[in-house]
Amino acid sequence: MRLFSIFGDPVSHSRSPLMHNTVFKSLGIDACYTRTHLTEGSQLRDVFFAKALSGANVTVPHKEAAYAQCDEVRGIAKIIKAVNTIVLEDGKLIGYNTDADGFMSAIQSFGEIKTALILGAGGTARALSIALSRGEITPTILNRSRGRLEYFECEGFECFEWDDFTAKPYDIIINTTSAGLNDTELPIPRPLLLELLSQAKGAIDVIYGKETPFLREIKVSALPYKDGSDMLLAQGVLANHLFLNGEYPIEAIELPMKRSFDL
Ligand code: NDP
Repeated sequence: MRLFSIFGDPVSHSRSPLMHNTVFKSLGIDACYTRTHLTEGSQLRDVFFAKALSGANVTVPHKEAAYAQCDEVRGIAKIIKAVNTIVLEDGKLIGYNTDADGFMSAIQSFGEIKTALILGAGGTARALSIALSRGEITPTILNRSRGRLEYFECEGFECFEWDDFTAKPYDIIINTTSAGLNDTELPIPRPLLLELLSQAKGAIDVIYGKETPFLREIKVSALPYKDGSDMLLAQGVLANHLFLNGEYPIEAIELPMKRSFDL
């Protein structure tokens, strides 16, 4: 039996086991996908081998640690420097990032977007900023602290921390912070958020499966919005395709994985 897992802290909320196990069952594949609660990101590689995994997903806050521990990194993950999918290939850990393509697929329904304000500066913000700029959408990054902004500055993106930011119109506001995941916080101070929403065409919270304070404010503003479910599905399909070495077409994976959202 092939074993897979998701590494994160927290990880109990993750829908990935249900999504991937539904696909394995539907395709008749002898495989099992579990959760691994990992507090120390630096131990990811050792735990991967100790559990004899064939592949893994990585979630908050270990994507950058995963990047550092892979033997080889492929595709857009090389630029993002954050890995959310690992596949064991000839005894080596190969890292990928499926968040970027998953997100771009999820925002198609918003129509034409030219500018985006990304709240947060972690691994997900990196993935989204690169994907957006490749899709000819200009990303601006706003984070509560300076530390993680250097990566985005090197990529040539406009970056701000709360103290040096003045609101202006952005087509879409995207929350990539973990505010609201395990607490009741907004990703930015409320007056600033309300001002930004009043000038935007839409908003997305990449957190899924719960109504975050950010999502609640968007609903009140009556803007078009999405939570992270569509992105979760799209990145999961791409990850599963990698786990199964491309043996099954995307459509064969997407159908049962989508069904798992109704379970
Ligand atoms: P990281 O830990 O890499 O980054 C978190 C970011 O959030 C940092 O910029 C941090 O700021 C900021 N932050 C954390 N708490 C707060 C707060 N209370 N207020 C304001 N800012 C805060 O996380 P990831 O980028 O890996 O993931 C972020 C979120 O995206 C998670 O909730 C995750 O579940 C979700 N996600 C969803 C996906 C989907 O498919 N729907 C895919 C990937 C991620 P600082 O730098 O100051 O610490």
